[in-house]
Amino acid sequence: MRCPYCGYHDSRVLDSRPAEDGAAIRRRRECPRCERRFTTFERVDPAPVMVVKRDGRREPFDRAKVLGGLLKARGKRPIPTEVLESLAAEVERQVRNLGEPEVPSSRIGEMVMERLRGVDEVAFVRFASEYRRFQDVQSIVEEVERLRAQKDREEQLRRQVPLLPLGEGRANGKHDSGR
Ligand SMILES: [Zn+2]
Repeated sequence: MRCPYCGYHDSRVLDSRPAEDGAAIRRRRECPRCERRFTTFERVDPAPVMVVKRDGRREPFDRAKVLGGLLKARGKRPIPTEVLESLAAEVERQVRNLGEPEVPSSRIGEMVMERLRGVDEVAFVRFASEYRRFQDVQSIVEEVERLRAQKDREEQLRRQVPLLPLGEGRANGKHDSGR
């Protein structure tokens, strides 16, 4: 690999390690002439998957776009960027594993939402409303309430079950609104 600083035609690898959850190899290199160091990444060059947009236009799948949508949905919510990066990576893996040359953008939106739902409900709702999966505000509110009730229930069970004698746990609040 050529040195990006002085243009020397070669460089020495100092260190190689897996990156991006094993999807890439990161190498630290040093130029034998100017002795400066730089980093390179080695990745599989994948067969392109085309995303079919709602208006019928097609564009190559781009994980950076998925991440962009997630970062926008995050806003100021306390979600670490790495969490969203690995979510986008998972979606990319799922998309490629479909083994199809074309995937509708709505399907990718669903894959993102399935995962985002478990990460942060506000970000989920922002993302979902962007994707217009819900026809109206009321159904978004219902979804949030459902998520909140589910979380409360899990929280209660976690706290109470070890403290109460068997049979007294209030695990019967299971009457979901049902969809
Ligand atoms: Zn150099």
